[in-house]
Amino acid sequence: MLIILLGAPGAGKGTIARMLVEKFGIVQISTGDMLRQAVNEGTPVGKKALEFMNSGKLVPDDVIMALIEERIAQPDCAQGFIFDGFPRTIPQAHALESLLTKKNMTVNAIINLEVPEEVVLKRLTSRRTCSNPHCQAIYNIYTMPPKKEGICDKCGSSLIQRDDETEEAIKVRLETYYEKTQPLIDYYCKHKAYFAVSSLDAHETFNAIVKRLQK
Ligand code: ADP
Ligand code: ZN
Repeated sequence: MLIILLGAPGAGKGTIARMLVEKFGIVQISTGDMLRQAVNEGTPVGKKALEFMNSGKLVPDDVIMALIEERIAQPDCAQGFIFDGFPRTIPQAHALESLLTKKNMTVNAIINLEVPEEVVLKRLTSRRTCSNPHCQAIYNIYTMPPKKEGICDKCGSSLIQRDDETEEAIKVRLETYYEKTQPLIDYYCKHKAYFAVSSLDAHETFNAIVKRLQK
């Protein structure tokens, strides 16, 4: 099974991806998480990516494609995977298409999570992420607060606000999304695997996706 999740920052791609991973036993491939890990580990990719990420800009396409190509060749991807936060530009979508053709793979679902801009803005500023790189659980101070303020329910680590979740970086991320990533909707909407879900509730969204995938 191969799934592509599209949507603005804050649309809920990470949350939905994790739910689908559990349901279908596939792997989540989040380029954002992979890049943050590379930054934490201080790898050459991390060093290259840091500046782009902290200012809310996109990391260059060639860096992303090298990461993806290496990742999907790993054995745990054999059962399938779900892309969360990739592709993010038309050139990435083209490169993905050639990569999949080369590997003889087809996409089962291209899902667009449609969430209004004001909702996305509020979600991003109220988001808190677990500081433990192995956990990275996501909370929301209004709608999904942890049991104990500032502490991860799952692992007990402290919760932080990401550097790219300051008001200024968020503005740039949204502008980048509308300019570079939104055009992907036009690119994919004619694909037979494409569909959009516009619920603001994660469980409702998840159920709609599962129903559609099992059709
Ligand atoms: P978001 O919440 O904006 O979806 P992500 O965690 O997916 O955040 O990504 C964080 C940052 O990592 C992005 O702002 C961007 O700088 C970089 N990034 C992640 N995925 C990609 C990609 N496919 N192409 C280019 N840059 C990416
Ligand atoms: Zn945690």
